[in-house]
Amino acid sequence: MSIGEIIYSYLPAKRKQTPSGWIKFNAVCCHHNGTTPDTRQRGGMIQNGDGVSYHCFNCGYKASWQPGRHLTRKMRYLLQWMGAPDDVITKLSLEALKIESDAKALEAVSLPTFEERELPEGAKSLEAWSTWIELHGWENTEQDLITAFCYLRNNRQIDPYSYPFYWTSKLGYKNRIIIPFYKDGKIVGYTARAVNDAKPKYISDQTPGYVFNLDRQTQDREFVIVCEGPFDALSIDGVAILGAEIMDKQALLINRLNRQVIVVPDRDSDGARTVEQAINNRYSVSMPDWPDGVKDINDAVQKLGKLQTLYKIISQTEHNELKIKLRAKQWFLN
Ligand SMILES: [Zn+2]
Repeated sequence: MSIGEIIYSYLPAKRKQTPSGWIKFNAVCCHHNGTTPDTRQRGGMIQNGDGVSYHCFNCGYKASWQPGRHLTRKMRYLLQWMGAPDDVITKLSLEALKIESDAKALEAVSLPTFEERELPEGAKSLEAWSTWIELHGWENTEQDLITAFCYLRNNRQIDPYSYPFYWTSKLGYKNRIIIPFYKDGKIVGYTARAVNDAKPKYISDQTPGYVFNLDRQTQDREFVIVCEGPFDALSIDGVAILGAEIMDKQALLINRLNRQVIVVPDRDSDGARTVEQAINNRYSVSMPDWPDGVKDINDAVQKLGKLQTLYKIISQTEHNELKIKLRAKQWFLN
């Protein structure tokens, strides 16, 4: 049995599974933390990759384990409170340590690293450009720059200052909005999206394995929403895999967040492939009942607003492999 399976085997007998994959039971932590014991099944455990996360919605206790990490003190306490014998906990700790050192050796060769990269020549942030416009007046501003602002506001309903978007007057780029890719605060690539019908839609410079908007996953959510495009991710504060494929290196980075992973595919033929990869990674998948004509999250936010879109995603999240497959069959057909 894997460490995750052993942890699962000590869950209280009285429990139920929610469609989104959480196993709910009376939390075992609360009275150890000076809170009234839980009687309303507010303790939850979820599988996340080969790891597990525990969250108590009564006293707020959290504990998790991922392959490649040691067994934290909080996880050891949790096991104790669930009634695991001391020798089992010690064994698990040792096993986790062994996996950790193996994983560290492996990560050294496999975790993607990202070098600093330059944006196209002359690129300045929209914030800097707006100062420029104030100084020089709209009548002296290039139409393409104005179009770029309008594209974000009107075509995407994204506040131009909510992310450090860039623009440049350089030929070949002036009809595009530049979305820098950040990792640990450094610019490690970008994609430049056409704001008109120009082809290609995107001109990108990126290292394979990059996950967009990972740096910003600081909110106290129990989940992370994984989508295809950068505008989808920005619309609901999720991350984007920048295509339909979840690469192994991307999965490594996403798993390190230690949260429930909810994949929301685009509703097109490539999206079906994303679903398959989500299942292989044991992620949850949400294929919400979008309004007609909605093909991705950014479309949905424009029609429904951010809160309603998030609500649909969360409430229609599915963890069971069979149910995901059944839903996909119907969802991609319509
Ligand atoms: Zn608790």
